[in-house]
Amino acid sequence: MIEKIAEGIYRIEIPLPGNPLKALNSYVIADKKALIIDTGFNLDLCYNEMIKGLKEIGVEPRKAEVFATHLHADHIGLAGRLAEEVYMSKIDAEIAIDSVEHPEHWTKLVEFYIRNGFPAEEAKKVLKLHPAVRYSSKIAHINFLKDGDILEFGNCVLEVIHTPGHTPGHLCLYEADKKILFSGDHILFDITPNITHWDATEDALGDYLRSLERIYELEVVKTLPGHRNFYGEHRRRIEELREHHKRRLEEALNAVKNGSKSAWEVAQHITWDLKYERWEELPTMQKWFAVGETIAHLDFLERRGKIRKQELDKIYYSA
Ligand SMILES: [Zn+2]
Repeated sequence: MIEKIAEGIYRIEIPLPGNPLKALNSYVIADKKALIIDTGFNLDLCYNEMIKGLKEIGVEPRKAEVFATHLHADHIGLAGRLAEEVYMSKIDAEIAIDSVEHPEHWTKLVEFYIRNGFPAEEAKKVLKLHPAVRYSSKIAHINFLKDGDILEFGNCVLEVIHTPGHTPGHLCLYEADKKILFSGDHILFDITPNITHWDATEDALGDYLRSLERIYELEVVKTLPGHRNFYGEHRRRIEELREHHKRRLEEALNAVKNGSKSAWEVAQHITWDLKYERWEELPTMQKWFAVGETIAHLDFLERRGKIRKQELDKIYYSA
């Protein structure tokens, strides 16, 4: 599906088969030298949809470059297959490269989740299930971007804004004249971005909330998110997202009030916006994301002296 957003700016909807996100919004700034913002998985289905869309817009696929808001496979998966030049942050590129080139990246992560109470047998399944393992492609050349860099494509002058949180190197693009924000997964409207634990930062949720403040200050008339609906007002959404995390922090705090718990146990006391009634029914990957998100919230509380963290063979949190 293709939609014209503004003069020279298009959205191509790329399906994400088997993924609860359903589809990715890929934005294209059309010109002789075009820019594709986020790509979809490295799957033929996504690739064919992208090529079909580019042709319809009149963009020569071979001459397009790719900007990835962040390292997740639904945003970067096709990058290496589509373009020689890919733009992204150095932090995210390093994590992505590490996860593709070093299998111990995943075994270490699985061990960490097991220490946080995730059942070992189920955690090991993640080595095969994780989208990053299944849907990435090798990228020939990455141009590292940092906060304040400018990209010029078509009729757009795009300022790079570093918005750590969803990933440590997440980037938004801001077109100041048109007041358009390409928000990646930093701001989504009808789902909340997953904020999880990362080795690269000790305060992922704190980073995220600070990044929201930064975006709040911008004058924006159109926020273009990486998934789903995009007819929302960014300041109102930022206020809702702040509230959402405040509630989740309260739930996490309450969960450890009557005895120390692992993140795995705390996760079962948190209200998840999922269609499953009971924790046991959640697919492994959903449990994985929920536990990662729980760790980020518990660490946020621990850094601010609200709860204690005990690192024994397993990691426990207590009030
Ligand atoms: Zn993402």
